[in-house]
Amino acid sequence: MKFHIVTFGCQMNDADSAWLELALTRRGWEHVPEEQARVFVVNTCSVREKPEHKVYSLLGRLKRYCEGRDGFICVGGCVAQQVGQEFWRRFPRVRLVFGPDGLASVPDSLEKLMARPGLRISLLDFADSYQERDFSRGPGKAPIQAYVSIMQGCDNFCAYCIVPYTRGRQKSRSSSNILQECSELVQAGTREITLLGQNVNSYGLDGEGDGLSFARLLEEICKIPGVKRVRFTTSHPKDLAPEVIAAFERFPNLCPALHLPLQSGSNSVLKRMGRRYTKEKYLDLVNRLRQTRPDMVLSTDIIVGFPGETEADFSQTLDLVRKVAFDSSFSFKYSDRPGVRAASFADKVPEEIKGFRLDLLQREQDVFTERSLQNLVGSTRECLVEGRSLKPGTPDETLWKGREPGGRIVNFSGPARDLTGELIPVTITQAKKHSVFGEVGKSYD
Ligand code: SF4
Repeated sequence: MKFHIVTFGCQMNDADSAWLELALTRRGWEHVPEEQARVFVVNTCSVREKPEHKVYSLLGRLKRYCEGRDGFICVGGCVAQQVGQEFWRRFPRVRLVFGPDGLASVPDSLEKLMARPGLRISLLDFADSYQERDFSRGPGKAPIQAYVSIMQGCDNFCAYCIVPYTRGRQKSRSSSNILQECSELVQAGTREITLLGQNVNSYGLDGEGDGLSFARLLEEICKIPGVKRVRFTTSHPKDLAPEVIAAFERFPNLCPALHLPLQSGSNSVLKRMGRRYTKEKYLDLVNRLRQTRPDMVLSTDIIVGFPGETEADFSQTLDLVRKVAFDSSFSFKYSDRPGVRAASFADKVPEEIKGFRLDLLQREQDVFTERSLQNLVGSTRECLVEGRSLKPGTPDETLWKGREPGGRIVNFSGPARDLTGELIPVTITQAKKHSVFGEVGKSYD
C-alpha cells in the first residue's frame, strides 16, 4: 500500500511520524511522494493558530489526490485531538483521527480501514500510562541521529499553552524501555540520540515513573557503549535540577547545548503565564550552566504580546535577552488557543504592537546569533556529518553538512567519499546568517 506522511510542528511530531513510517514499512507498506500515495497521514500541530489553519488548506489539497484512486486521509497529532470527529463532517475523505496517545494503534487501524471501505476510526482517548510502541527496527541501519521519546504530555498548564489539552497529562515511559531502545539504535548505527519530552526535567515525577530521575536516566544513556552524542529537549527552568547541570561536566558525550524556554523577561508576565520561576532564577540557571560548561550553547523560546504585557514588561524581556545573549531563539506573537486560561484574559495586546515588538526582539537576537557564529571562525569543531550539503559548491569541491557539538550547522568542503555518520574535525573559515562554513584537513582524503 502506498502512503505519504506530512508532519507539522515539533520534534515530538517528527519522532511520531518517523515511528509510524517505520512501523508501516515493516508491514510492507511503501512511503511514496504525495502525488503517488493512496493513504495520507497528516501529523498536526496546534501550538499556534497559523499551524492549525495550514492543516485545513492541506486537507483541501489532499482531497483532490484521493478522488479517482479511492484514497483516504488520516489526521493525527494535536489538532486531531483538539478538533476530533468534527474532521469527518468537514472533510469526508478523513477516515481516521488519532491523538498522540492513539499513535501506537494506528498501523492496526489502517489495516482495518483497508479491509472495510466504509469504516471510520477515532483514537482520541487519553491513556493513563505511556503508550509503549513496538520500537524494534528489524534488519537495516538506524539513522545517524535518532529521537527517543521519554514521556508524553505535560502537567504544567502554562496559561497560553494548548499542549496539556492535546497531549494529555504527563506520563513517563519506563526507563528500561528507553534504555533498550537507545542501545538497539546505537547497535544499529545511531551516533547521536536526542531525548524528547515536553518537559524532560520532570521525567519520572509523575505516577508513571519507575523511580529513575531524569539525571539518572541521562547518566545511564551517556554510559551506553558506542553512543557518541546525547542531547535532550525541551527543558523547563523550574525543574532544571543541579544534577542535570552537573551532568554537562561529567559526561563528555552530553552535548553542550540546551534549549531553555524563557518566554518572558518580566516577572509579572511570567507569573500570569504560570511559569513558576522568576527572571532572577532564570539568570542564575544560565550562570551555573556556563560555569559548568563554558562552551554551552543556549537557545530559548519567547512569546511577545502576552495579554497585559506593557512596554515596561517588554523592555525587561529585551534586557534579559541582552544579558543572556542567547545563541539563538524562537520568538512568536501570542495567539489565543482554544480552552487555555489566557484566552479569557483581558488586555489583549493589539496585533500591530505585537508585530512591532516581535520585529524588535528578532533584530536584537540576530546580533547575538551572528556573534555566536562569528566566534566559531578560526576554531576547529568536531562535526557529526549528516550528509551532502544542499549548498551550491564549486564544481571541483564536495560539500558536506554536519553539526558541531553545540548544534550549529556546519557546511564544509571535504573528500568525495561518503562521510555520512563520521565525526570529523572541521576548521571553521566563515560565518553565515544561520550556519558556518569550514574545511577538513587533507588527512581525510
Ligand atoms: S511546560 Fe508549559 S509551555 Fe511547555 S508544554 Fe507544558 S504547558 Fe506547554
